[in-house]
Amino acid sequence: MRTFQKEFDAIVVGSGPGGASVARGLSKNGKKVLILEMGDYEPTKGTFTQMLSRGWIPGTKMPLTTGGKPIIRAITTGGTTNFYSACAYEPPFEMLTKYGIDITQEIADLRDELPIDKISDNLMNPAASLFMKSARELGYDCQKLDKFIYQDKCIRNCHSCTYGCPNDAKWNARYFVDEAVENGAKIINHAKVKKVIIEDGAAIGVEYKRRGKTYRTYAQQIVISAGGIGSPGILKKSGIEGVGRNFCTDPLLLVMGKIEGLEGTGRAVPMMTGFHLKEEGVMLADLHLPQILKVLFDVHAFNFGNVSDFSDVIPIMVKIRDDFSGRIINNGLVSKKISAEDKQKLDLGETIASKILINAGAKRTYSSRVVAAHPGGTVKIGEHLDKNLKTKFDNLYVCDCSVFPEPMGIPPTLSILGLGARLAAHLLEKGQTANNLNAT
Ligand SMILES: Cc1cc2nc3c(=O)[nH]c(=O)nc-3n(C[C@H](O)[C@H](O)[C@H](O)COP(=O)(O)OP(=O)(O)OC[C@H]3O[C@@H](n4cnc5c(N)ncnc54)[C@H](O)[C@@H]3O)c2cc1C
Repeated sequence: MRTFQKEFDAIVVGSGPGGASVARGLSKNGKKVLILEMGDYEPTKGTFTQMLSRGWIPGTKMPLTTGGKPIIRAITTGGTTNFYSACAYEPPFEMLTKYGIDITQEIADLRDELPIDKISDNLMNPAASLFMKSARELGYDCQKLDKFIYQDKCIRNCHSCTYGCPNDAKWNARYFVDEAVENGAKIINHAKVKKVIIEDGAAIGVEYKRRGKTYRTYAQQIVISAGGIGSPGILKKSGIEGVGRNFCTDPLLLVMGKIEGLEGTGRAVPMMTGFHLKEEGVMLADLHLPQILKVLFDVHAFNFGNVSDFSDVIPIMVKIRDDFSGRIINNGLVSKKISAEDKQKLDLGETIASKILINAGAKRTYSSRVVAAHPGGTVKIGEHLDKNLKTKFDNLYVCDCSVFPEPMGIPPTLSILGLGARLAAHLLEKGQTANNLNAT
């Protein structure tokens, strides 16, 4: 076997919640970590143009389905948590246990450490309060949702959440990347990883492209965390067959209603309140969007008559747990249809949202088209990964939204962070065992 200079203990590809939590966990225990991230590490400005440049370029940064539905993700340090609505949703512990995975301790630790709490009354938005009141009147168990937010820094009537918070109020995976870098991890940005270098059944390094040049770098362990669309692409080129098929995207649409006399929607944290119909696989929440994004949703659905309405509109998000189906054609194009069952769930959510809006005072409601925000299950535990998130190749692991073995239909970030903390602990333990064996 040839030997390569392994400069790092681990290479982590991608710096969303999956990659960031593994990189942080390893670096704080003295491991030499290299993070390869395709996006930038510029400060977040909270502007529409910066958001566009990080993720809203259809067909490249923003993958499209063959039916033209956008799949939203962010290509920047911290990944899609730059755009996310910061809901800290309880992981599906029961489902993970079926696959031999217990992250209850990791989640308890994260809950202690991170700014997870319900939004305080003084940051609540009138539209969110009205949505919650109306939903409860109709018998739905609508509650304030847990948020990853430093509420002392959160500015009332700010609309930047979805663009990326410029006030350091919205916790996102960059916080863990920054910590990893402070611990000594190296990050190379604008580095697009193409494939993993495999030798004798084990991963030994990765090949990446940066500013037109191809590089190879080597490490003891490789963790792929390029997200639900990015990771299967890299793994396929590295010799892992069958990934990128039969996955979910948690499709969502917005149902909107104009309420005479209501003021101040849009300029607020999205998803302050909501409820989950677990059996039905449908989740509803208020989803405040900056005005330009609301106009884009209207135009996308040809709702031209509604584009000028904004501050008196309640937008309700209907998100469903969709069936596993489809295939990733390449990094920018995905074949994924809405099945008849998915359509039924969307219809159910739309009907409930409409009733809530009418009950709240809307004269009529209208809906956006469907978009997708959580591509997952493209590299599944139990099929492509063992319970330690290891692939068929030694030293090659995956940790991000792609690993979920079943559709979830709930915000996945807290679960991914828990899996990342667990994987870091596993790799540290594995390294320790190898050192002990070498010493004897
Ligand atoms: C609008 C919106 C709102 C959301 N709201 C919530 C919410 O409230 N709560 C919640 O839990 N979840 C939410 N989500 C989902 C959540 O943000 C994602 O599920 C989560 O960020 C996925 O983490 P990940 O690590 O799998 O991938 P990502 O966060 O997408 O990270 C992948 C990283 O890999 C990098 N990368 C990709 N390809 C390569 C490559 N070839 N080489 C190097 N780097 C690469 C990317 O630049 C990126 O940094 C939301 C998503 C969206 C779009």
